[in-house]
Amino acid sequence: AKQAGGGRSAFFEQGMGEAAEQRFQVERTLRHAIAGDELRLFLQSQVDAQGQLTGAEVLVRWQHPRDGLLAPGAFIPIAEESDLIVGLGNWVLAQSCALLALPVMREQRLRLSVNLSARQFRQAHFVPQLRALLESTRADPRLLTLEVTEGLVIDDFDDAVGKMRELAALGVEMSLDDFGTGYSSLAYLKRLPIHEIKIDRSFVHDAPTSADDGVLVQAILSVASHFGLRVVAEGVETRAQADFLRQRAPDILYQGYLYGRPEPQEDWLARLSPGPLV
Ligand code: C2E
Ligand code: CA
Ligand code: CA
Ligand code: CA
Repeated sequence: AKQAGGGRSAFFEQGMGEAAEQRFQVERTLRHAIAGDELRLFLQSQVDAQGQLTGAEVLVRWQHPRDGLLAPGAFIPIAEESDLIVGLGNWVLAQSCALLALPVMREQRLRLSVNLSARQFRQAHFVPQLRALLESTRADPRLLTLEVTEGLVIDDFDDAVGKMRELAALGVEMSLDDFGTGYSSLAYLKRLPIHEIKIDRSFVHDAPTSADDGVLVQAILSVASHFGLRVVAEGVETRAQADFLRQRAPDILYQGYLYGRPEPQEDWLARLSPGPLV
């Protein structure tokens, strides 16, 4: 029995070692990817109730030289364990501001929503850096939305609110992402200077078929309306989900496979009708 126990423990330790080794590998190659040219911006359309394009969410991908195109789930959590996420996040913000500065975006007043990580937002110089970036790229701050999660806000509530106010003063809007999945979302709404909430796709998914989720979505919609917040429903995949939402809130925005998958920024831009030539 002693031998078996020892064997199990040795196996367990070896497993841990491999996981750590793998993470180390990802970290090393990711550092290289951020410095190099392997990250890609994907855009996923957001539309209004009339089906009019209003903008897109920016979703990062890693074009890995060996493993192909990687979704954020494969590398963002690892990047978030160190300052790697700061470099990655700043790269995404810089690329997004460059996109916003394109004439076609400015003329059609198309917005971009960019995801922020807690560690990135906690940087003391986050706001002045973004201000400098907006100035150097000449992007219109009013077309930029920053998506934050409840977790990021909880980290240091006063610091987060202070920065959100400064950003609002620049014209940048704040969105509370994955709304409803935290444990105290409702309590925060009253105290946060935000402009938008995104209903998590888990609620959207079951709203038409589950009475419980339907009631939750209805509650979120009425709270948002009370606070004058824009609502984006994420993960809308079916007509039934869209209809359920439209019947209860005629002026929310929609994002999901029903309207378009995330796609490379070049492809997304190529489908925009050209604006006026001057
Ligand atoms: P998220 O912010 O909740 O982004 C929405 C995710 O839902 C995206 O996954 C998107 O591809 C997926 N999605 C969109 N529509 C549908 C749908 O109709 N059905 C289903 N089943 N899924 C849909 P993705 O691109 O894999 O991104 C995953 C997460 O990675 C994001 O979740 C976000 O938290 C994070 N992320 C992505 N880009 C960045 C970034 O630049 N910085 C940071 N910090 N996080 C990022
Ligand atoms: Ca998001
Ligand atoms: Ca989300
Ligand atoms: Ca989500």
